[in-house]
Amino acid sequence: MALLFRNATTLTMTAPTEGHPLRANVGIEGNRITMIDATGERTAEFVKRNADNLTDIDAQGQILMPGLINLHTHAAMTLMRSYADDIPLMTWLNDHIWPLEAKLTTDDITLGARLGIAEMLEGGTTTFADMYWDEAAVARQAIEMGIRTVVSPCFVDGRMEGFESDVVECVTVAKECDRVSVRVAPHAPYSCSKANLQRGLEVCRELNLAVHLHLSETDDEVAQIAAKYGCTPVEFIDSLGYLDLPAIAAHCVKLTDRDIQILRDKKVGVVHNPQSNMKLSSGTAPVWRLQQEGVSVALGTDGTCSNNDLDMWDEMRSAALLQKVSGNDPTVLPAYQALRMATVEGAKALGREGELGIVAEGALADIILVDTSRPHFHPLHDIVSTLVYCGKAADVKTVVVDGRIVVSDGVVVGLNYTELYTEVDQHVARLIRK
Ligand SMILES: [Zn+2]
Repeated sequence: MALLFRNATTLTMTAPTEGHPLRANVGIEGNRITMIDATGERTAEFVKRNADNLTDIDAQGQILMPGLINLHTHAAMTLMRSYADDIPLMTWLNDHIWPLEAKLTTDDITLGARLGIAEMLEGGTTTFADMYWDEAAVARQAIEMGIRTVVSPCFVDGRMEGFESDVVECVTVAKECDRVSVRVAPHAPYSCSKANLQRGLEVCRELNLAVHLHLSETDDEVAQIAAKYGCTPVEFIDSLGYLDLPAIAAHCVKLTDRDIQILRDKKVGVVHNPQSNMKLSSGTAPVWRLQQEGVSVALGTDGTCSNNDLDMWDEMRSAALLQKVSGNDPTVLPAYQALRMATVEGAKALGREGELGIVAEGALADIILVDTSRPHFHPLHDIVSTLVYCGKAADVKTVVVDGRIVVSDGVVVGLNYTELYTEVDQHVARLIRK
């Protein structure tokens, strides 16, 4: 199976500081990008080689770029989207979200994940790092719908049961499909006891798994950890040994100089979630400072209760704007760096640099095509700026994951939307009633 996108405005994201799109024919064979032909000299040979099984697409007027990487979310929370808004974090969790989450069945999580994955795919997200309970169900949905995922079974005090069996099940599911990998997710330093965190670490080591956690999100968390352990959340998690493993840490809003040093030295992939941080009044993560200090910062939406969508375009824009407000400097976090956070840096944080998050020969064929025909793309002075400051999820028309077209003309291939929405309404009505 081969795909050929002709005359695409191709943004490879391979340069570190600025993007120079080139007009090229991009060829995919199997699950890899095998040709980026700017001169047109290699295309005839590509067509000849794949004549029996070629989908040949005219991509004139479209921007071909790497698929987006949403490095922190809770896909199944789509079922609780807009259920409880404009409430302080701890009240929101304790009185609204956690009681409802306790009622979720595997069927609910499967359905919520289906809705979330549909939304992510439509918006050009080709990889998502998820954290939740019953992650094996999320992994199975990801396999079925064609997206790439890093599922992270979560544990938290009072909900340890099922965690270890979920991890084992996820590992088994991941063996069936290259698009699935597994991490262990301690919910957060404030919500997990030291004993539970130590057990989680043992699970990581026993099964050779990396880590995905919430870290240093709020002042409240910092105060709790200081009172309990006499150090910062980053120092505490590091002292347990978690940061000696490959780790992605969501939020990292409240950081000391020492914390930043630890994150850099331990090569932690920080995941910035600007809209969630804004909505829950957590504060502004020091993204620009982290980047200047050499810390890799990727981008995530967080769950749909604190965002409330899974739109990475919104997230890129928010990240750039928020740094300019907090830094009182319009030059910080320029558009290309925001775009890198959603692509290259996400891949780097997952240890898959050079394979994901770029358009390059030999890289995995996770790419998207963005339509530029709508008014907000005109005039097109600067493609990168326009993508970041004007781009919308609905501009994504084609999505390819692992060499397969999973979104065509803006819709998820093979998905019955009417059936999905009916089922979501039924499940939500039952959950609220329970
Ligand atoms: Zn989260």
